[in-house]
Amino acid sequence: MKPFHIFNTLSRRVEEFQPLNPPVVTYYSCGPTVYLPQHLGNMRAYVFVDTLRRTLELNGYDVRHVMNITDVGHMTSDADAGEDKVEKTARAEGKTPREVADFYIAQFKRDCDQLNIRLPAPPLLCRATDHVADMIALIERIVERGYGYVTPSGVYFEVEKWRGQSRVGRLSRQSLDEQHAGQRLEHSPDKKSPHDFALWVLNQPHHLMQWESPWGRGYPGWHIECSAMSMRYLGETIDIHSGGLDHIPVHHENEIAQSEGATGKPFVRYFVHNAFLVGMEGAKISKSVGRFPVLGDLAAAGINPLAFRLFCFGAKYRSELAFSLDAVRAAERNLDYFAEFARNLADAEAEARADSPWTQEFDQRFIEALNNDLNTPQALAAALELVGEAYRRGDKRIWNTLKKLDAVLGLGLDAMRKVTHGEFPAEVTALQRARDAARAARDFKRADELRKELEAKGYEVKDHRGGSTIMPRRRVA
Ligand SMILES: [Zn+2]
Repeated sequence: MKPFHIFNTLSRRVEEFQPLNPPVVTYYSCGPTVYLPQHLGNMRAYVFVDTLRRTLELNGYDVRHVMNITDVGHMTSDADAGEDKVEKTARAEGKTPREVADFYIAQFKRDCDQLNIRLPAPPLLCRATDHVADMIALIERIVERGYGYVTPSGVYFEVEKWRGQSRVGRLSRQSLDEQHAGQRLEHSPDKKSPHDFALWVLNQPHHLMQWESPWGRGYPGWHIECSAMSMRYLGETIDIHSGGLDHIPVHHENEIAQSEGATGKPFVRYFVHNAFLVGMEGAKISKSVGRFPVLGDLAAAGINPLAFRLFCFGAKYRSELAFSLDAVRAAERNLDYFAEFARNLADAEAEARADSPWTQEFDQRFIEALNNDLNTPQALAAALELVGEAYRRGDKRIWNTLKKLDAVLGLGLDAMRKVTHGEFPAEVTALQRARDAARAARDFKRADELRKELEAKGYEVKDHRGGSTIMPRRRVA
């Protein structure tokens, strides 16, 4: 079998993946800034993160995955200008920054859960505000090594000293002048150059979140959190780091500079970047412009949120994907196709028997597609054709194979099958039926009450057209 290959932004090539210490893979993915609901463009990125992790696991790797939660320091402009995003929402809503962050973290976890995105368990799902001491220690190392300097307005990273003569970024392959061409760089007169970025911000008395540091009371810049938390949990050199394409020129260049400036060692071996979800007009779906669709909008349109996961599989992660409700509805038909097959499998037919030999071809095609730089459209086609072939041959001995593919597809087909075969207590299925009836009668208040009862008994509910699926609640961080 072809080993796993992935496009490395550092080399601009698809490379064979070889971790530093197999079978362990250290993986850091940039996570959400928690000041608004995550829109579907953000959720596409997290489906990608989850697919990458699951594919590595399918290849037998033991993935140590860290994701950060930004709850301080991310300014309304990625280049340090403007207002702290979390504090801006806190002021607007009359809440504390902690309350704002807690609220949107809970919502993010619920949305991930609806999409079967497995988040790292704490402490590997880590909040910036819980790691300020790590950031201060790292900034001290940077200053000691001569790449950071202290001023009355903050501690800054000296970008030109780090980049040297050519001034070209390793990841973006742009010079500083190209990178900032046509931009008016607002900057503090304390900075040696407008390209320098803040590691620690001082003397901003209006800022709500402040910590003591060797340089005075202040708060961390946005970029330093990822370096500090990555090193804390994964070591100074990690295998994979992922984020959106928009992270390349500023956030990830800065992460490399400050990490390697502190340690003198390579920070990341494979940098992986996902493309955007675009609206019908081709515009980037971004938090800074207006209101973009969120997962709840799909449920409101009668679409099973899990269909969005299959919709994401329809394009390669490095390609833009055009969003429309109709396109997600089309993906929902594939979801129904898989779900119907799983539900109609009689128990005895399923696990007990070995799969038919002809299934191997589909299994191979699925893994080869994923190992070829995560070609999810081809992998999805192989999975759909596996089910189609079962119908065509009248031979349903494919369950073990389908379950294996679902380890990456992440549709929870096993749970769907168990629901159909009454493997839950009678009182639980009775509650589910009552709730389905309430929803059919548009009595959403009653349906909500029944959902809470099911949740109290340890079951989660997912709605879709014509019914619902229940499954034992996974422990979510
Ligand atoms: Zn980051």
